[in-house]
Amino acid sequence: MSMRFVNILFYGNFSSKVKEINIQGVTLVINPEKLLELVLRYAVKAEGGEVYRRYRRFRADRWYGGIATADVVGCNLRCGMCWAWRNTSYLLDAGEWLSPGEVAERLRDIAKRRGFQQVRISGGEPLIAPAHLLKVMDLLSGYIFIVETNGTLIDRQIAKELAARPNAVVRISLKGATAEEFEKITGSPGAYFYRQLNALRLLVESGMKPCHDVYPAAMLGFSTDENIKKLEKALAEIDPDLPQCIDVEYVILYPHVVKLMKTRGLTPIRAVRPDGVPAFMI
Ligand code: SF4
Repeated sequence: MSMRFVNILFYGNFSSKVKEINIQGVTLVINPEKLLELVLRYAVKAEGGEVYRRYRRFRADRWYGGIATADVVGCNLRCGMCWAWRNTSYLLDAGEWLSPGEVAERLRDIAKRRGFQQVRISGGEPLIAPAHLLKVMDLLSGYIFIVETNGTLIDRQIAKELAARPNAVVRISLKGATAEEFEKITGSPGAYFYRQLNALRLLVESGMKPCHDVYPAAMLGFSTDENIKKLEKALAEIDPDLPQCIDVEYVILYPHVVKLMKTRGLTPIRAVRPDGVPAFMI
């Protein structure tokens, strides 16, 4: 088996775990269910009635006009333009174990110091461990909590839990405009793209207001105009407001992202330089 594939899947000390991923010949098929199992095994633990996750760092960030951010370890996808692949999302055994209370305290400290009204968990998939996320959200009920998620793990129960929290704003980050683009970007089956769309549907059905409590973000850096129209149509079928509030994302050409895309054979149609990120993306 080629080491090239090992590096695509894990960064750090986890090359031995590659056997647990479904690779068919030279075609890389990344299995989100297997990745979920691995993250749950190595980066999530229950202790003393609390669910702990590994975190790599905490920071004040410029996005959303200023937000306190915790970078969590582990994701169930392996996007080929993921800015966090070296630091958090592709990792399993890095970082510090933290309880929801410890995470909330650190985020609150940053928010207070910087005068932010918003907090988030980024760098990986927060819904890998819903109980942990929901507890952090509850402990920070005085802040707007932006749940940045790929949406593939949202079922009806989780949608209801999120909808029940007044401080929740959920941002489903669609990986491409169609199932085919999703496959190209993530290396995972296109069926998961439909899970992303279904997450939006479940959240709206659970009472979250489109473009206010829940909105679609979309990585359109690899999308044709025709496919963007298809996405708008698919979103309109969920709710007519959703196409009006797509949070458009283009690839940011950080050197490590360029390196990763090269490894994955990805060439963006639309990209921005790190020093030229347009205001609408911030
Ligand atoms: S879903 Fe987000 S965090 Fe996970 S690999 Fe993709 S871009 Fe990175």
